[in-house]
Amino acid sequence: MLNIKNLHVKLEEEDKPILKGVDLTVEAGKVHAIMGPNGSGKSTLSYVLSGRDGYEVTDGSAHLRGADLLGMDPEERAAAGLFLAFQYPVEIPGVGNMTFLRTAVNAQRKARGEEEMDAATFLKEVRARARDLQIDAEMLKRPVNMGFSGGEKKRNEILQMAMLEPRMCILDETDSGLDVDAMKLVADGVNALRSPDRGFLVITHYQRLLDHIVPDVVHIMADGRIVKTGGADLALEVEQNGYADILAEVA
Ligand code: ADP
Ligand code: MG
Ligand code: MG
Repeated sequence: MLNIKNLHVKLEEEDKPILKGVDLTVEAGKVHAIMGPNGSGKSTLSYVLSGRDGYEVTDGSAHLRGADLLGMDPEERAAAGLFLAFQYPVEIPGVGNMTFLRTAVNAQRKARGEEEMDAATFLKEVRARARDLQIDAEMLKRPVNMGFSGGEKKRNEILQMAMLEPRMCILDETDSGLDVDAMKLVADGVNALRSPDRGFLVITHYQRLLDHIVPDVVHIMADGRIVKTGGADLALEVEQNGYADILAEVA
């Protein structure tokens, strides 16, 4: 599904390498988690994959279902099936949440050569998905993320993800700032989308999200590289011992 090889990335503005040779393959149907200390490059990896400005790829490659991701515009990446749930979801004044969702869904469908979703079907879908995430009708009418609490923003990201039906979902610290109940809602939303033809990359600083979204594979990132890979138990090891032991071991 996602195949990253020897990815080296630096800031466009300065010669500061951030990713220093990331190798990662996420198979369809699998949930991979990336954990790691603050500043290790986790968010940078998600930004570079989604095509955000300000970063320069100096070496390596990233392919989504065989297609060269790094050569695509952000819209093309989305149309190819990539979705990124942001660590800090942006507020979009003046654009209603519902309008945003409908426009995004239909842009996706158009890019895939499918017909637009008719208004009635869209409404039915969005209401059902919103209900699962305990997003009320009022929140659907407001401008995107404007005045939403931290938890509401994160749930709204999952609603977008559910409506867009991406093939490869990247969640960057979707658990940060969430209380336990909101985190469960988010995790349930993600788990409902797990499917054999969809891959997930769940970036998290803490292990607790992974109690609810149980990963198939856990990677530890440090200083711009993946330094250790294991099963779900690796996350528990981090929870118990912190990163120090692992970093000392690989140093
Ligand atoms: P993580 O998500 O693992 O906490 P980040 O990817 O946010 O790590 O950051 C990795 C490193 O790159 C940090 O040292 C951070 O300060 C630096 N960095 C990332 N983006 C920028 C930027 N736009 N300007 C300056 N430094 C940046
Ligand atoms: Mg950080
Ligand atoms: Mg980050």
